[in-house]
Amino acid sequence: MSFDALKLANPATRALRAYDPGHDLPALRLEYGERLVELGSNETSLGASPRVAEAIAAALPDVYRYPDPKGASLKAALASTLGVGAEQIALGNGSHELLMLIAQCFADASTSVVFSQYGFAVFAIATAATGARPVRVPALPAGHPRAPLGHDLVAMAAAIEADTRLVYVANPNNPTGTWFDDAALDAFVAAVPPETIVVVDEAYAEYVTKPGVSSALRLVADHPNVVVTRTFSKAYALAGLRVGYAVGSPAVIAVLERLRESFNVNALALVAAQAALGDAGHARKIRDVTAQEREWLAAQLAARGLRCFPSQTNFILVDFATDAAVIEAKLFEHAVVVRPMAGYGLPTCLRISVGTRAESERLLEALP
Ligand SMILES: *Cc1c(COP(=O)(O)O)cnc(C)c1O
Repeated sequence: MSFDALKLANPATRALRAYDPGHDLPALRLEYGERLVELGSNETSLGASPRVAEAIAAALPDVYRYPDPKGASLKAALASTLGVGAEQIALGNGSHELLMLIAQCFADASTSVVFSQYGFAVFAIATAATGARPVRVPALPAGHPRAPLGHDLVAMAAAIEADTRLVYVANPNNPTGTWFDDAALDAFVAAVPPETIVVVDEAYAEYVTKPGVSSALRLVADHPNVVVTRTFSKAYALAGLRVGYAVGSPAVIAVLERLRESFNVNALALVAAQAALGDAGHARKIRDVTAQEREWLAAQLAARGLRCFPSQTNFILVDFATDAAVIEAKLFEHAVVVRPMAGYGLPTCLRISVGTRAESERLLEALP
């Protein structure tokens, strides 16, 4: 008698694949030690604020207790920093969890979800997990002057149908690095019916230095269907602790709270995020150093004849105009890890995180 668990799984789960982490990074760290250059996961090499370690040390004796299920202290700090009410914030075990939670709460097999070609991969996964119909809108062309491969917000608004419960956009987007400005977002949100929830994933918002590109937080008060997701994983350098947050109308947040796991953000993550948030100088330094190193690295890559897509993030999408798997393998031989893009349908591209100058130099030396 054979036991087939997959046959017992629901159709939405059957359609999913387990996350493919690529290289076994923990094993590679043991093998290569300091020599390993990790530029594949958009972490910042600059590290977290020193206040984070202090906050964790102070909270350690109490780890036998459950964390605050409301995360009240972190929410109060976020509310005051962002100028919103605490009842407008939901906390997540990373913003990935929140992107999934939003879909679980609002979408199902009778609805559709709109997102862009080359939009962040989690959008498609969150959609599939609910059984909703994915509507993948073609991206702007690679030759677009402002946002090559970026979201076509006009086409995305036009793709919304009566059954569209959710639309996901990322600003800036991963893996393209592209962004849209306030005017484009305003026009988009104005065109979306109030029955469709607009999720604006702002995982890289803290990295943006371009004028005219501000957070969708400014839209939340007037548009109860707009939800913004943010994370402490990128510019706050806490990827290992898993803290993200969603900001929206109290009504949308109250829906998310119905399904949110009660202790989804652990006690050390809560105090660490609050400490990181409190060190605005550190976050600014990460933003400024990253912008400077990104422009330096992009110039070096361009000088080698490679096409770098414009980026307002801590990574660059690079087109090698050849099978990038070969380049990726060559870099890996030199213990330099980057992210292949074939899974996104960009087999000639690699996504390269902006590290320290020394890491960028190691990358450049290892390029064939
Ligand atoms: C990294 C990333 C996230 C998820 O980050 P978490 O670590 O889960 O908070 C969300 N959206 C985009 C576009 C990202 O690149």
